[in-house]
Amino acid sequence: MTIGNNPKIPGGVSSAPKVDASQPELEPEKKLEEETRFERSGSGGGSLQLDRVVAPAMVQKQEKVQETYFEMVERLEEEIQLQVEQVKEVLLESVEKKGDVEFMYVLDVSDVENQVCVNCGRPECTNYAQKYRVKTPEINLLFDSIVTFMETAERLGIRYGVIAYDDEVAPIRPLGGAGEHDNERVLRRLYSFKERKAYPSRFDSKWLKKQWDTYTPDKAFQTTVVKAADKPAIGMAAQMFRSGEDRNAHILVGKANLPDSSLRAVDFAMKKNDIKIRGIAIGKNAAKIAPRMFVKTEQAKDLHAVREQMGQRMKNALEDE
Ligand SMILES: [Zn+2]
Repeated sequence: MTIGNNPKIPGGVSSAPKVDASQPELEPEKKLEEETRFERSGSGGGSLQLDRVVAPAMVQKQEKVQETYFEMVERLEEEIQLQVEQVKEVLLESVEKKGDVEFMYVLDVSDVENQVCVNCGRPECTNYAQKYRVKTPEINLLFDSIVTFMETAERLGIRYGVIAYDDEVAPIRPLGGAGEHDNERVLRRLYSFKERKAYPSRFDSKWLKKQWDTYTPDKAFQTTVVKAADKPAIGMAAQMFRSGEDRNAHILVGKANLPDSSLRAVDFAMKKNDIKIRGIAIGKNAAKIAPRMFVKTEQAKDLHAVREQMGQRMKNALEDE
């Protein structure tokens, strides 16, 4: 297959994994198989059926708007270089002292809840209020932080991985060395995970009408966002590290919403397993979220800080004895 022949690719450039020009085209079954090859099962809990998440039909659905990995790296290049500089020195020291570094970035990308009156369509009217699920408004900055983390680790030759989660857990990039996974594909997986649910809009009159037709007063109190799977996500990250003692294993957990219950018990479990864990409490509720995360939790109140301070977080983790 040559790029120019593919009618699906305007200008011969596309971000969709189906048209990865660097690889020979696969049979449909093979493609799916390859997409799902790292699916995990059993222990750890909350493991997601990736075949459902990255089914080709779903991947195609958002071919239109999303940036490619390359485009994101290009946009974030300056910041990435800063992160690399920040981590470089302390990384060398850490490797010398404790061996090869392994880093997992575990990010909560849960939805948030809005409210609308299904009669008049205004969010502030409470007459026929109903809650509905929307993507967190910060989702793009959270994705930026993932790419900044990945590319920083990539350039430093760190073994790294990424897990995204909401009420389900998706191992977006299994732990592995630099260049071991196709990051374009990793990014597609992240998009697919985030696009697997449908999001209603209060500007969608058909949806509003349907809600109005079936409205009952208790809908004002019904929540539409499911609890975030904090512990299963962290558990999955912990399982990915090399086994054995004396490891140099680190988990960074980013959250922009309040954990359902305190995560302090996780601190203890990680310590027992010789894994360093640090939290990043994100956004305007950071001060409230932080005390419910780990002993070592930093706050990123300004959302841009999530990606701008990624190197600082990694550095702090590595300096942590
Ligand atoms: Zn109203």
